[in-house]
Amino acid sequence: MYLIRLDDASEYMDIAKWDKIESLLNQYNIKPIVGIIPNNQDKELVSKYKKDLGFWNKVKEWQSKEWTIALHGFTHVYSSNSGGINPVNLRSEFAGIPLEEQKIKISNGIKIFKEHGLNAKIFFAPSHTFDMNTLEALRTESDIRIISDTIASDIYKMGEFYFIPQQSGHVQSLPFRITTFCYHPNNMSENDFKILENFIKQKRDKFGSFKDLSLKKREISVYDKGLKKLYFSIRAIRNKLRGK
Ligand SMILES: [Zn+2]
Repeated sequence: MYLIRLDDASEYMDIAKWDKIESLLNQYNIKPIVGIIPNNQDKELVSKYKKDLGFWNKVKEWQSKEWTIALHGFTHVYSSNSGGINPVNLRSEFAGIPLEEQKIKISNGIKIFKEHGLNAKIFFAPSHTFDMNTLEALRTESDIRIISDTIASDIYKMGEFYFIPQQSGHVQSLPFRITTFCYHPNNMSENDFKILENFIKQKRDKFGSFKDLSLKKREISVYDKGLKKLYFSIRAIRNKLRGK
């Protein structure tokens, strides 16, 4: 099954592009997971876009049409060079940060969501990076027990948490049971929209939504462990070659 995940919704975003992705998904009746930054302080976003005063109402509409609301960090500001347990990038708002600070981020994020009548079911961190303390902070400060971000073929459970795999930043046919395509609408080009729509047209019946997922108590498989190891070793070599 294919899932769509949209990252970086906040009071500071490219409203025209978000409207465009919303109408595209509406047209094909696809309900994405959407990551909301509760207290966006990320200079790249805050300085680029005008504050959208209608933002929180828009998110409530998304929630009422069954888009799945995710807590996407707290400020979206990176303060460590750690990759944590999903080292897609070596920068993080969470990984490597003391547990007490992470707890404050999570509880303040949830508080903002509650003030706006939002119920987050999923967490994913800026740059995909978090650590075991992030899970502990979510466990004590929220009801969230689902993470969208891991390299695997299927959902697995670790401790109290379910992990939904997220393997690609663009649509492509991949041989996994569950594939999440992660888009950043703020950065999408005309061509990205076209490619996405063509793919959806061809494979609409393979797209599902969060409510179609069965959260099973499946442990991570040997295959998934191998997949993860392979993915991150290729990634590490690539980063080394790029001098990162
Ligand atoms: Zn983000």
